[in-house]
This record gives sequence, structure tokens and C-alpha cells, in this order.
Amino acid sequence: MHCPFCHNPDSRVVDTRIADDGASIRRRRECTVCKKRFTTIETSSFQVVKNSGAVEPFSRNKVIAGVRKACQGRPVTDHDLALLAQQVEEHLRSSGVSNVSSEEVGKAILPFLSQLDEIAFLRFASVYRSYNSLEDFEDAIAQLRLQRQENDDADKTADDKEATVSTPGNTRDSAAGVPQHTGVRKQHARKPRKKQIREEEPTLLDS
Ligand SMILES: [Zn+2]
Repeated sequence: MHCPFCHNPDSRVVDTRIADDGASIRRRRECTVCKKRFTTIETSSFQVVKNSGAVEPFSRNKVIAGVRKACQGRPVTDHDLALLAQQVEEHLRSSGVSNVSSEEVGKAILPFLSQLDEIAFLRFASVYRSYNSLEDFEDAIAQLRLQRQENDDADKTADDKEATVSTPGNTRDSAAGVPQHTGVRKQHARKPRKKQIREEEPTLLDS
């Protein structure tokens, strides 16, 4: 950017600091002409608009904190939570927008959480979607069952395909005795958004 004092287009960076817990970078610059110093701040253009209207940078830690409560007493590790937050961020960023609402963040968490732990999913969804009757839970459980069934079917289809299509990745995985999830994941990644909830198999989350 131009020097704010003399509008000279050149400046040199004299100091760089990570700020806001990694969400931004501050650079101290010196104008090459007038030698005055000024600060620039770089932030990602990916932000969350809260219900109050306040805007803040997207934070994986906030996603983790929100989901962690729902995971109390469940076999979900910190690593699982970190991966889930990463998936949620990647999913939201892949839409190409620079702002998302808190609502959309919650919505993006649900499919990944349902893959991770069904009980945690029900707890989280009951708050996020404001379940207020047994029927709400029954509907959600019916959805989970359906999804489980679809996952099983998808696994069978994927296994069939892998039997005929052999990529170097699959060969290496099977040689190492690792279940052949590489092909499954690639296949799912190409599918439209509706199928994206199955992108990560529970076994992948454990690895
Ligand atoms: Zn200047």
C-alpha cells in the first residue's frame, strides 16, 4: 500500500508479528522516501457474523469449544475435535464466500459430527436446532439410521469399484495392511455436496 504520509508506493517491512491468536499478521513498515513508519494488518477475509451482528474472524477453537460440550463422556479425542474443526472450516471456505453466519457454522458442524459420534450429534443438534419434543429426537434418530444405511451401501459400492480399479495409492495401502480407504475418500470427494457428509469415514478420523 502507499505510504499514508507521502503516498510513495514503496515501503519496507521492518517487523512482522502474528496477532489475534494467529488470525492476523501485523507488519511494521517504513516508507522508503519519507522514512516514516506505519502498521498494516493482514487478516483472512473469512469471518463469522454473529446473531448480534458482530463480526469476528472464523475460529476453529470456537468450533471445538462448542462441540466439546456435546462430546462429554464420549470416546472423542482432542485430535478428532481438531480434525472436525478443520473439516468444518474447509467446507465453509470451499463455498467461496468471505462471511458466514453463526447459524451456517452450526449447520456445517452437524454432518461431520454425525460421522464422528451419533450421541454427541444428537446432543449438539438438540441445542442447535432447538428440539423441544420427543418427536424431534425420533426424527433425528431416524435420519441417523438412514444415513448409517446409506453409508453401508456406499461402502459396498466403493469396495466393488476398488476391486476393478487399482491405483498406485491403493496398492501401497493394501501392501501396508491398511484398509483401503483412499479410494473411498477420493470417490466421495468428487460427489456433490449432499454426499459430502460421508467424505470422512470414522476409521479415517481415528487414524
Ligand atoms: Zn512516505
